[in-house]
Amino acid sequence: MLARRRRLAGGLSEPERTLRGVLLSEGRRCSSEGCRCRRGELHGPYSYLAVYVDGRSRTIYVPQGLEDATAAHVEVTQRNEALLAEVSQINLELLRRRALE
Ligand SMILES: [Zn+2]
Repeated sequence: MLARRRRLAGGLSEPERTLRGVLLSEGRRCSSEGCRCRRGELHGPYSYLAVYVDGRSRTIYVPQGLEDATAAHVEVTQRNEALLAEVSQINLELLRRRALE
């Protein structure tokens, strides 16, 4: 269990790239009457990052050219958080066994 925990922790990478959220791609309607988007031909798609800030869900626009970097940050974050969730499970088990050091 300790060896597995060490291996999991060793798999963490680039914590400075942590960016929590979900990347979305959505079309948008503009404000001009008579535009084609009013007939269902939406503008975009544009990229957004759905994030939780202060317990509320927010959608942040991802500027063009930053989609790949944003996706890479989100991906490394999800990978790290999956590893940390497993480390936490191991530590919880160690606590139950009164073996948490
Ligand atoms: Zn429009």
